[in-house]
Amino acid sequence: MSTGKTRTKKKMVENNNYKLSDFLPTTKKECELRGWDTLDVILFSGDAYVDHPSFGAAVIGRTLEASGYRVAIVPQPDWHGDFRDFKKLGRPRLFFGIAPGCMDSMVNKYTANRRLRSEDAYSPDGRHDCRPEYPTIVYTRILKQLYPDVPVALGGIEASLRRLTHYDYWQDKLMKCILCDSGADIIIYGMGEKVTLRLCQELDKGRSIDTIHDIPQTVFLVDKNDIPGGINENDIILHSHETCLRNKRAQAENFRHIEEESNKMHAQRLLQEVDGKYAVVNPPFPPMTTEELDASFDYPYTRLPHPKYKNKRIPAYEMIKHSVNIHRGCFGGCAFCTISAHQGKFISCRSKESILREVRKIVKMPDFKGYLSDLGGPSANMYGMHGNNLKACERCKRPSCINPEICPNLNTDHSKLLEIYHAVDAIPGIKKSFIGSGVRYDLLLHKSKDEHSNHVAQQYTRELITRHVSGRLKVAPEHTSDRVLALMRKPSFRLFNEFKSIFDRINREEGLNQQIIPYFISSHPGCHAEDMAELAIITKQLDFHLEQVQDFTPTPMTVSTETWYTGYDPYTLEPVYSAKTPRDKLAQRMFFFWYKPEERMNIERELKRIGRSDLIHKLYNGVRYSADNSRSSKNAYPGKKAGYPKKKEYKRKK
Ligand code: SF4
Repeated sequence: MSTGKTRTKKKMVENNNYKLSDFLPTTKKECELRGWDTLDVILFSGDAYVDHPSFGAAVIGRTLEASGYRVAIVPQPDWHGDFRDFKKLGRPRLFFGIAPGCMDSMVNKYTANRRLRSEDAYSPDGRHDCRPEYPTIVYTRILKQLYPDVPVALGGIEASLRRLTHYDYWQDKLMKCILCDSGADIIIYGMGEKVTLRLCQELDKGRSIDTIHDIPQTVFLVDKNDIPGGINENDIILHSHETCLRNKRAQAENFRHIEEESNKMHAQRLLQEVDGKYAVVNPPFPPMTTEELDASFDYPYTRLPHPKYKNKRIPAYEMIKHSVNIHRGCFGGCAFCTISAHQGKFISCRSKESILREVRKIVKMPDFKGYLSDLGGPSANMYGMHGNNLKACERCKRPSCINPEICPNLNTDHSKLLEIYHAVDAIPGIKKSFIGSGVRYDLLLHKSKDEHSNHVAQQYTRELITRHVSGRLKVAPEHTSDRVLALMRKPSFRLFNEFKSIFDRINREEGLNQQIIPYFISSHPGCHAEDMAELAIITKQLDFHLEQVQDFTPTPMTVSTETWYTGYDPYTLEPVYSAKTPRDKLAQRMFFFWYKPEERMNIERELKRIGRSDLIHKLYNGVRYSADNSRSSKNAYPGKKAGYPKKKEYKRKK
């Protein structure tokens, strides 16, 4: 029987009326509210504190709290002046943790052209001044200055993807393992729940951080003589940082190993000499089980920004607050994506019950109007998928299960995913669940030997298009050139065409008027201006006026980045061209916008420069453009009156 007190508490929760003490503490006063006079762990976060399972600091804090540790979060501490934010909670009993943010700080701050982004999506009101560049380095140096004897552990995407020598686009140079520049003691790479808890337990036993070298999924620096067990034949010894500085091919060779070992079930240890020491990368933990993942999502998150942000907008939170993440990992292996080096290719799934529990919580949010914005993950449709023969997967080194072709061992059955969709849609209060994560249409078009899988894929496709699209389905062919697509590890553009035909047919059959919105990237390694010209012609033929486009950004530790920097494909060591200068990059990007009158003269000039004047005719259908903006031929736009569309028509088309 519930008491009056529990009824009141339940009511408060239902109304999102949480108490301050329902959040992890961020100040001394909030620690006192919990009756805590000491702390075991203090996390310094580069993002605002949003108590939600999509925000790393909250996940790690809640994980440790559930095991009885006293944890506080200091979000976005002021790194200027007297460092009072770093002193206000004193020293923790076990360690300081750095959670630099959901994104690498430089990717979060700058565009591909190194221009400041319009806002910082993880800061209140999108402000740019709430965190420094490289918070991992800045926060650690301050902490080591104030508390030299307290261990500092690095987590999050920034440290994870800078765990070995890597190219930094913003400084345009190779950088060392981030332990060297920060002075921290250990890196926890990948998804950090199990690792951080284990670190707590080992320190709690009284072990010194200098001796904790046996935890999987960690990186530490040691002298050669102190490498645990010595260098053995199962270790992979990478080219040293010094060698990579001199030899780009060595850096490319290194990356192949880094990626392969991040995606193996039984990985080898990686060693890299740097600054007279060795960075040791212990192999990762096995992928989380469903029970472990459920536990991580089921902690008592309030799902809200901390009350200190009252009346402030945190853009990333606004995007995800009505969405649910149903799995981790991605076996796509896209060359420009960081997931393979962070989460790996094996899929860990939440149980249906755990997903439904989260959806019911969202339904109770006062601002929820019945529409889930996403029911997905790193990709929309990999839930429940794995190799049929797990023994083969245990020996597998492939970074992708679906590129260059879909592995015959991969079970591509969408049944479990459909079951989730049906169960979510049956919850009272859900009007519609949208799929906002990227759909792998190659998985939907795949002809498996298993007829049941093929049938379910067709059913999934129809249900996706008729019930889960909010008018526009975003998909990512990324390019039209199969040569560039092979370097991106994306499927042939032929498959996009096939999928678009199915999309259009189902829309016609169902009387729907929905659009497919394709994403494309320019200046990816291997892409020449000519490839972009062909992209323009093909997308023109498909009647797309592109919106979702981006210039390739070399983010830390991806195959594409290392190819872009070194000039070699890390797997074949063949030379690969990349557009690097701002001029060459802009020359590629403008082809997306062939339909804008202001781009036409530059496009024609570029096509002449690269000796492809023949494409001018294809792109503009015989219309010549002259510097005074006059036109010399009719029929620039088939099906319309001769000449350019009027300005209004552009707007409508867009
Ligand atoms: S064997 Fe096939 S399904 Fe298994 S991990 Fe390798 S590529 Fe993926």
